[in-house]
Formats: sequence, structure tokens, C-alpha cells
Amino acid sequence: KEFRNNVKPNWCPGCGDFSVQAAIQRAAANVGLTPENLAVISGIGCSGRISGYVNAYGFHGIHGRALPIAQGVKLANRDLTVIASGGDGDGFAIGMGHTVHAIRRNINMTYIVMDNQIYGLTKGQTSPRSAVGFKTKSTPEGSIESTLAPLEIALASGATFVAQSFSSDLKQLTALIEQGIQHEGFSLINVFSPCVTFNKINTYDWFKENIVNLNTVEGYDPSNRIQAMTKLMETNGMITGLIYQDSSRKSYENQIVGFRSEPLAQQNLKISEEAFEGLLKEFK
Ligand code: SF4
Repeated sequence: KEFRNNVKPNWCPGCGDFSVQAAIQRAAANVGLTPENLAVISGIGCSGRISGYVNAYGFHGIHGRALPIAQGVKLANRDLTVIASGGDGDGFAIGMGHTVHAIRRNINMTYIVMDNQIYGLTKGQTSPRSAVGFKTKSTPEGSIESTLAPLEIALASGATFVAQSFSSDLKQLTALIEQGIQHEGFSLINVFSPCVTFNKINTYDWFKENIVNLNTVEGYDPSNRIQAMTKLMETNGMITGLIYQDSSRKSYENQIVGFRSEPLAQQNLKISEEAFEGLLKEFK
């Protein structure tokens, strides 16, 4: 309850993003956080509104730039739990460069992508996650570009935590966000989050028919990177659950020699008030 605020989301009724909001709120409470320990940083898109819908520190950034902002927040205050979030257009098109480098940097934070295979806020254009042949206003004859495979890219980029879930499975999604928060390093959680208004192909029913929960796959071992990559490729990415976790690698901040243990935001500046005022004047 403490992560709820009084802002009413203006997502369409039935939008998958409601579940992601609820899962973040539940996961944060379940791992024992309080609102002042959490920052939610988002990009642009319907899903980008989420930073205003969780009672925590929030920053609604610009298109594709949630990750640089979130990484800066985390490095300035390592005591905060930082969640970045946005849509597949935000994170896998304009923001893809940041996504790949955030993955290989491995700062201790969580990135949740609400993947609806379309641009919803701008009223339904083909996104990097749309299937070949997908017809929208921007591809009226059907998309002729291949579909981006973000989780394979993440594994190939050295990801230490890769998971995928579905808005209909709030229990699994909440558990994966908890695991992502507790993972030391960068955790990527892709969420099939249907856009009920503009995507009439990748609907709740379509996902239910097409996804395989890894809990039902006998012998699946999320510490095996080759198996994770193979499973993703075999299923065209249509799997949910914890796909891969490497708990042996230290986070970026825990590898920097001399990186202060106290948050930068709380460091003693060791300058007098007078000198500080002088500095401020210089910047006016
Ligand atoms: Fe959700 Fe689609 Fe509506 Fe945006 S347009 S709020 S993604 S259902």
C-alpha cells in the first residue's frame, strides 16, 4: 500500500502496464523497501508514465534516455534501489545503444521493459519488436524488417540477469522483479505487456497460446548461458521465467577501486557555507 499514490493512471482499461505497476509496488514491499529507498526512472511512451504512478522517487526522462539517468542516480546514491522502465520502442529503438552498454556495465539496478510490440502513445506504429508482416499505419503493407531479439542481444552483451514475464502472470512478474532487485548487477526484465488499443495481434490470448513458462521445462538451468541462448532461439523468445543469472560477477560499482562506500549524495563536501555560496554565484 505504501507504494501507491493518489495519481490515477491514464492507461487504457486492460493495458498490460497496470500489472507492471502493481508488480513493482508489491515487489518493492516484499523485499522490505520503503518509498524513500526506491527511485523509478522512466523514458517516453505510455509505459513511461509509470514513474508518476509509484509512490517513490521518480523521474520521467526523455525518449530512450531512462537508462543514462537511472545509472547516474544509482552512482550518485548507491543506497537507493533504482528501477528504470519504459517500452520496447523506448529501450530497443532510440535507447538501444544505452541498453546494450548498461548491460555490459552491470551497475546494480533493474530495467523493466514493457514490451507491447507497437508504439502505443503515438497511436500505433510498428516498433522494433513487431513481427515481420505486422500491419500498422507506418507499415500498411506489413513490416519488412526483422524483429529485434533483445534477450539474445542481452546475453551476447554479457548480461548477468535476464528474465521475461507476462502481464497476466502477476505472481511470476512480482517474483522476478524481487529477484532482479536482489541481484547484484544489472537485471533486465522484459514483460509482454499487451497494448489492447492498437495491437490486435499480440493480445492476452495470443500470448497465453504462445508462451512457455520455463518452470514447466524439465532440467532448465538458468545458470547455463548456452542453454539460455539456445532456448531463446528455439522458441523465438517466447519463454517466461528466469532465463539466465550469473551471480559470480560483481557489479560495476563494486569493482571500482576506491569507489566510496557512502553515497555521493551524502558525502561531506568539506567546504564552508560561504565558499559554497561563492561557487553558486560563479554559476549564476
Ligand atoms: Fe496501453 Fe496501448 Fe493504451 Fe498505451 S495505447 S495505454 S500501451 S493500451
